[in-house]
Amino acid sequence: MKAIYRIAVDGPSGAGKSTVAKAIAKKLNIEYIDTGAMYRALGLKILNNGIEMKDEDSIKELLKETEIDFVNGDIILDGQVVSHLIRTPEVSMAASACSAYPFVREKLVKAQQQLGASKSVIMDGRDIGTAVFPDAEYKFFVTASDEERAKRRYEELIAKGEDVTFEQVLVDIRQRDYNDSTRAASPLRKADDAEELDTTSMTIDEVVDYVCSKIK
Ligand code: C5P
Repeated sequence: MKAIYRIAVDGPSGAGKSTVAKAIAKKLNIEYIDTGAMYRALGLKILNNGIEMKDEDSIKELLKETEIDFVNGDIILDGQVVSHLIRTPEVSMAASACSAYPFVREKLVKAQQQLGASKSVIMDGRDIGTAVFPDAEYKFFVTASDEERAKRRYEELIAKGEDVTFEQVLVDIRQRDYNDSTRAASPLRKADDAEELDTTSMTIDEVVDYVCSKIK
């Protein structure tokens, strides 16, 4: 067995990827990398700078002076912890929009490859098994029905005190599914060699145990 291994967890928004990936990382004592948080951090910066999502040149300039990193599980944008600022519906949409730019993906994918170059990691996102680590030792494609995903996301947002309706969350999830799977650059798709896991009627523990049982 190789000393280092990578677990790729891809799938649509709200499928529970980050919850299960975090738990698996703890169980296997490896690092968890939330690649969505990196796109969210950039989305937040674009919003904070009042830049329009279609203003490609300004986003390109902004990206040149942007540093995104992880420290102790927190996402750091230009030296500041922003973990608590990136889970709003506005930032979700901004992340989805800016992630369609190939120059954005190029920079963030490179950073992700470096993060997983010298240690075992479990990484979740949309293109880990297809673009970031096409040679990952383990690949899972985690899905759930759109209603179930919206329900999970809605409960998470309400618990955080966000003022949202279930209908709005469902519309947003479907919009992000559409954006993520129809963009030209690394669209969301299952890698041919990824195992698909429909978690609609599975608990988090069941998904975690199932994935861990596959890791040798
Ligand atoms: O996973 P999460 O919902 O936090 O990701 C936010 C957005 O970032 C997604 O809707 C998607 O557009 C983008 N993303 C991506 N590639 C990844 C991770 C996230 O395009 N590897």
